[in-house]
Amino acid sequence: QRPAGAGPLPAGLRAGPLTEHEAKCLVAAYGIPVTREHLATSADAAAAAAAEIGYPVVLKGVSRAVVHKSDLGLVRLGLADASALRAAFDEVRLLLEQVAPGAGEGALVQEMARGEAELILGTTCDPDFGPMIMVGFGGVLVEVLKDVQFAPAPLSAEDAEAMLRRLALWPVLAGVRGRPAADVAAAVDALVRLSWLAHDLGERLVELDINPLFLRAAGQGAVAVDGRATLR
Ligand code: ADP
Ligand code: MG
Repeated sequence: QRPAGAGPLPAGLRAGPLTEHEAKCLVAAYGIPVTREHLATSADAAAAAAAEIGYPVVLKGVSRAVVHKSDLGLVRLGLADASALRAAFDEVRLLLEQVAPGAGEGALVQEMARGEAELILGTTCDPDFGPMIMVGFGGVLVEVLKDVQFAPAPLSAEDAEAMLRRLALWPVLAGVRGRPAADVAAAVDALVRLSWLAHDLGERLVELDINPLFLRAAGQGAVAVDGRATLR
């Protein structure tokens, strides 16, 4: 019951840590929606990319040596125009020289996304159980609440929905106290697609996270806003 468009794996995957953009290209090859984005290595190229994407945009410093970008000031949200974008590009380039000397790869210009809820979707390859899929609430909540669920890949849609329903915070997705329901179907679809990716990568997969996946209101879909992966 592999969903249409889930794969094949792109050719030429390399071992080691992937950049956010590379990790998102990998999940996009399995039909998971990702932010529109372009990698830029000059302020002019960043401005051209932002004009094509449409303001406001987000700018992120890129280095595969960096794990938590926002902790280092490398994520600049809601840039409203070209002058804000160019200033952010220069700041991010200087920061990268400090935190990852010689290992900066430019800056990622991406659309500013919105969501009702932020999920984390993760995968690891367990030596005994093979590829495992994890889901929980993203952002700070994931570490505070430890409200996560695991299941072996590949997942059916029923498996994926059951994982979401077992979360303590499930009522938040279903819609509480006048808050709109989030697009649970889009979360289920992303989990199933990620599970086929993990299944196909098998032992080449060290880890792969989408954190966050933004869920919009019911019927409006989801989008992967950040991605991280390490292959062997
Ligand atoms: P980190 O490496 O720190 O996890 P992220 O790319 O996840 O960096 O960015 C940190 C936070 O900024 C995200 O959790 C999300 O809330 C917000 N964010 C990042 N990219 C976007 C975007 N394109 N649109 C809207 N919000 C974003
Ligand atoms: Mg993140």
